[in-house]
Amino acid sequence: MSELSSRENFRRMLYEKRQEIIRSSADGMKKFMSGENRQTIAAGQEQGDCSVFYQFEHMSCRQFDTQMESIRKIDQALKRLEDGNYGYCDECGEEIGMERLKVIPFALFCRDCQETREQLPRKRN
Ligand SMILES: [Zn+2]
Repeated sequence: MSELSSRENFRRMLYEKRQEIIRSSADGMKKFMSGENRQTIAAGQEQGDCSVFYQFEHMSCRQFDTQMESIRKIDQALKRLEDGNYGYCDECGEEIGMERLKVIPFALFCRDCQETREQLPRKRN
């Protein structure tokens, strides 16, 4: 991970991913506000069917949350690139591994730690 060229590659990947999310987020909002969704919502309101509106609003909020979460992760990864911590698991300090980083360039944890973390809420329930 100390190779400058691979650091640059990941930095570029992260920036591109960030732009992509912001673009699709803006597109999603535009569609939500003015496109076919708005017509569907208007039709639903006329018919007194509010569930249509809530359905779309909920979907849009959830998508927006997911996108914001991804941007936060990307910003964290970019900061880690600056600090020189990029590519190491935030939990156990082991290398995350190239194969995993190529798929998820903003991964904070190695596969084992990520799986452990994802299982935690399920165990609590
Ligand atoms: Zn780990």
